[in-house]
Amino acid sequence: MNLFAGLEHVVQQDVLLSPYNSLRIGGNAAYFAVPTSHSELQAVVQQARAANLSVRVLGHGANVVIPSSGWAGLVIQLSAPEFTGVAVNGNRMTAGGGANLAHFVSLAAREGFKGPEQLVGIPGTIGGALHVNTSTNGGNIGAWVKQATVLTAAGDVLIREHHEMNFSYRQSSLNELAIVAAEFEFEREASEQVLRRMQKLWIVRKAKQPMLDEPCAYVFKDHGGSTATQVLTKAGVQGLKSGHVEVSDRDPNFFVARQGATSSDFLDLVQKTKQQVQDRSGLELELAVDVW
Ligand SMILES: Cc1cc2nc3c(=O)[nH]c(=O)nc-3n(C[C@H](O)[C@H](O)[C@H](O)COP(=O)(O)OP(=O)(O)OC[C@H]3O[C@@H](n4cnc5c(N)ncnc54)[C@H](O)[C@@H]3O)c2cc1C
Repeated sequence: MNLFAGLEHVVQQDVLLSPYNSLRIGGNAAYFAVPTSHSELQAVVQQARAANLSVRVLGHGANVVIPSSGWAGLVIQLSAPEFTGVAVNGNRMTAGGGANLAHFVSLAAREGFKGPEQLVGIPGTIGGALHVNTSTNGGNIGAWVKQATVLTAAGDVLIREHHEMNFSYRQSSLNELAIVAAEFEFEREASEQVLRRMQKLWIVRKAKQPMLDEPCAYVFKDHGGSTATQVLTKAGVQGLKSGHVEVSDRDPNFFVARQGATSSDFLDLVQKTKQQVQDRSGLELELAVDVW
């Protein structure tokens, strides 16, 4: 039986997911769709629902751990041009759910929009960033969003206005199946100043942490008044490894995957580091990364 009749040009079967995430781990998705229009996206979701398939949307995979056994349902990626555009309109920017966060950040800085430069160097998409409220100690993406267009698991398109959305530290009320587009509003500043700040932040970040120059993930949430990096450093987790995954020697809140790494290696290392933190400081760290 063809589950995606009429959508064969956008849905592939048995697609390896490891090339689609920052850890380069993960088995096959039973189905993998890259819709090219809103109507195709809706149709794919509706047909998956009719077939009882579990559906996940994948951005750039910078915040997911995908099992080495794969994903038995449908994975959708909003990487077609219909979903990746970014545009400026007065003090506002609009972006597709699949738009590159780095592109959004540099365009905002060139415009003299204040705030997004704080997210420089963070990999991912606008949809992924809004889903987890991507943040640094200088700001979070939820602070600037005015409106979001989302698609529910039933295939309905809804508009979420500013007052209907809530964002807190690495949490967002935007938990529908897909964030398809969003509109943001910013205050302005001289663009030279914003660009200078962005460059400085980029240099500091690049010196202190892995930046996708190796397969890696940002693992734990900050805890209380301390960053996860501080908590992990204090617990002395540097040097720990499980199988082919190891704690980064540049920043312990990044785990680096070596050739042959599996999702079990990653999760074993999560347990080991959590345990060491618990034993040495009594704190219980929470995962930032989303385990599928
Ligand atoms: C080197 C590195 C540095 C990082 N630094 C930071 C940092 O400083 N601060 C920080 O907060 N994070 C950081 N991260 C984590 C990550 O970059 C962010 O969480 C980013 O926003 C993930 O975006 P993504 O598109 O890759 O999402 P994915 O990893 O693809 O997805 C993450 C979650 O969002 C969901 N999702 C993705 N797209 C959509 C969509 N369109 N609609 C609905 N749901 C969607 C997915 O189903 C998944 O549950 C870092 C990661 C790496 C590898």
